[in-house]
Amino acid sequence: MKGQTHPEALRAQLSEASRVAENEPLAKRTTLGVAGPAEIFIEPSSETDLAQALRYCTANRLPVFVLGRGSNLLIRDGGIRGVVVSLQHEFFSGIEVRGDELCCGAGARLRHVANAARNAGLAGLEFLEGIPGCVGGALRMNAGAMGAMTFEVVEHVRFMDRDGQVEEQPAAEMAAEYRSCPVLRENIALSAVLCGQPDEPDAVRARMEAFRKRRTSSQPYYRSAGCMFKNPAEKPAGQLVDECGLKGHSVGGASVSELHGNFIINDGHATATDVITLIELVRERVREKKGINLQTEVQIVGE
Ligand SMILES: Cc1cc2nc3c(=O)[nH]c(=O)nc-3n(C[C@H](O)[C@H](O)[C@H](O)COP(=O)(O)OP(=O)(O)OC[C@H]3O[C@@H](n4cnc5c(N)ncnc54)[C@H](O)[C@@H]3O)c2cc1C
Repeated sequence: MKGQTHPEALRAQLSEASRVAENEPLAKRTTLGVAGPAEIFIEPSSETDLAQALRYCTANRLPVFVLGRGSNLLIRDGGIRGVVVSLQHEFFSGIEVRGDELCCGAGARLRHVANAARNAGLAGLEFLEGIPGCVGGALRMNAGAMGAMTFEVVEHVRFMDRDGQVEEQPAAEMAAEYRSCPVLRENIALSAVLCGQPDEPDAVRARMEAFRKRRTSSQPYYRSAGCMFKNPAEKPAGQLVDECGLKGHSVGGASVSELHGNFIINDGHATATDVITLIELVRERVREKKGINLQTEVQIVGE
């Protein structure tokens, strides 16, 4: 209707179970805990509503950003203009075990996927246990740990384009690479089929527990976005940061973890600007001392 604001028009087009908010704070929706607000925030309660919202955004040239669990994001203090879509509604969070396969919604938490695989006696998904994201974020980032990567255990991905059309592709055809799946830059993952190999639940549990111990002894407990930099070919980024004497270095409320040089942690008072200034300082020092250009693994978005 004429004269409606975008949030009003979106509310009118989506079902009541879908949430539309304005100026939604995002800091608590990220693990690092810094971020400005989303101009418009939508939590659709069905694929129909997601498609409707995307078509509206395309028709009105509103930029769309998909938020997972915010564990690989640094959102600038000015927030995100346009529409932020979150698939945290329970509609998108299902996990169904069928034989050796797990059909997982994009909003399902990776820890829950690993637990479901363990309970079903399926091996191969243990590495997902300590990655604090959801399936959509893990697919987009091709998240990996303990020598394994998401796309090695994925069979098919269903996704939606910006016109609300749904497609399904075999994982092998999606050309996923180190920490990226280019197909999902523009498209929104809806669900994926993951595959495990039959094993004893106790053996799977033991491997998960060993992975958990390795993580807790090597990663800081504070708020962070995980590894800040991609590992260059020469050496792990954390080691380079350590060799440059940067552990413990801080800007405002952000500091380089004393435990792991590739983690930037928030003492509870950091701003996104503090974190970005510290990232630049680290990159400059590593470039100067080691001649290596560190690239961020964490995505820096927003205004
Ligand atoms: C303590 C800690 C430990 C970590 N350990 C690891 C690790 O071992 N290995 C590793 O790889 N990463 C690790 N990470 C980083 C992070 O958890 C992963 O990259 C994770 O996959 C991100 O998922 P997310 O749901 O939080 O995505 P977000 O951070 O919310 O988003 C990341 C990207 O995915 C996109 N996205 C999200 N959902 C969708 C969707 N449905 N469709 C399309 N795109 C989507 C977003 O737009 C964004 O571009 C760690 C982070 C923390 C804080």
